[in-house]
Amino acid sequence: MTGMTSSTKTDKRDNLINRIDFPDTLREFVQEFPDEAACATYLEKLRWPSGFCCPACQTSGEPWRQTRGRLVCTTCRHQTSVTTGTIMEKTRTPLTSWFEAAWHLTTAKNGFSAKTLERTVGTSYRTAWTMLQRYRVSMVRSERGQLSGAIEVDETLVGGVVHGGKRGRGTSKSIVVIAVEVKEPKGFGRIRMRHIPDSSGTNLQPFICDVVAKGAKVRTDGWTGYNGLSKYGYLHERTVLSPSGDPAHVAMPGVHRVASLLKRWILGTHQGSFIPAHLQSYVEEFTFRFNRRTSNSRGLVFHRLLEQAMITSPITEAEVTFGYDWSKKGKRS
Ligand SMILES: [Zn+2]
Repeated sequence: MTGMTSSTKTDKRDNLINRIDFPDTLREFVQEFPDEAACATYLEKLRWPSGFCCPACQTSGEPWRQTRGRLVCTTCRHQTSVTTGTIMEKTRTPLTSWFEAAWHLTTAKNGFSAKTLERTVGTSYRTAWTMLQRYRVSMVRSERGQLSGAIEVDETLVGGVVHGGKRGRGTSKSIVVIAVEVKEPKGFGRIRMRHIPDSSGTNLQPFICDVVAKGAKVRTDGWTGYNGLSKYGYLHERTVLSPSGDPAHVAMPGVHRVASLLKRWILGTHQGSFIPAHLQSYVEEFTFRFNRRTSNSRGLVFHRLLEQAMITSPITEAEVTFGYDWSKKGKRS
């Protein structure tokens, strides 16, 4: 492979990803994925690291190769393709476009909106949106591990324009609850977020139980929705803000920081607009990128996204259009 001469780099990669190479720069990306065949070969390596295995009869062995990427099992004659059963199933979009989209999503600091993707990759808006939505669902598979240590949890309001309306809990803006690992003496670790219909305990507590490991120290404000956290096995630390109002960033620096980044991202990359049914998709994408912000190699993040895409089941057109039901994500094994 061209442009990959540094032996240290190769050694490190061998340890990281079992000898599957990935591009580090745009130039390498362009060189490595000039056409459909190159993309398909890469996906095959991700999907079947030890060689093709028939999804029908589980026999391993090189399949017959037909036109349009069809793979035929030599034992049971089952026909499949590298994208069948994955988030890219039945796509009519060229793999080169999928790869370009993944590259921009993972290497641009703030990702791309569907609008920008449409212009950059040269697809229709609908195609750009579809790729984004499907990738966002793939991103979540890798966000399973629970947060641990010291965690700040608080809600923030995003979107909408409030004209002197109600403030605080109970407005018509969308509510996102945020959990942030706080490092000692300073700095933040991983995050998780969930779009919730309201700030009651029936939404806040299940979120915390899903994303935070038992035994963790959970910091919240004095809101009643956080009552009773200790009975779920958490060390609950409450900071009751004084009526005069300590600024939120004093008590909850992590959540405050993440919330302002999230809002800035929605304002910047997405021009401040989103459909509430899709908000969870947006925050999942934000979370994926945030949790990999310190990765030395953007190419590795690109590689991980495609790897996830290969083990994520297809979603329906309705889910692409009207919003994915994220509650079922947690129930899948
Ligand atoms: Zn077979």
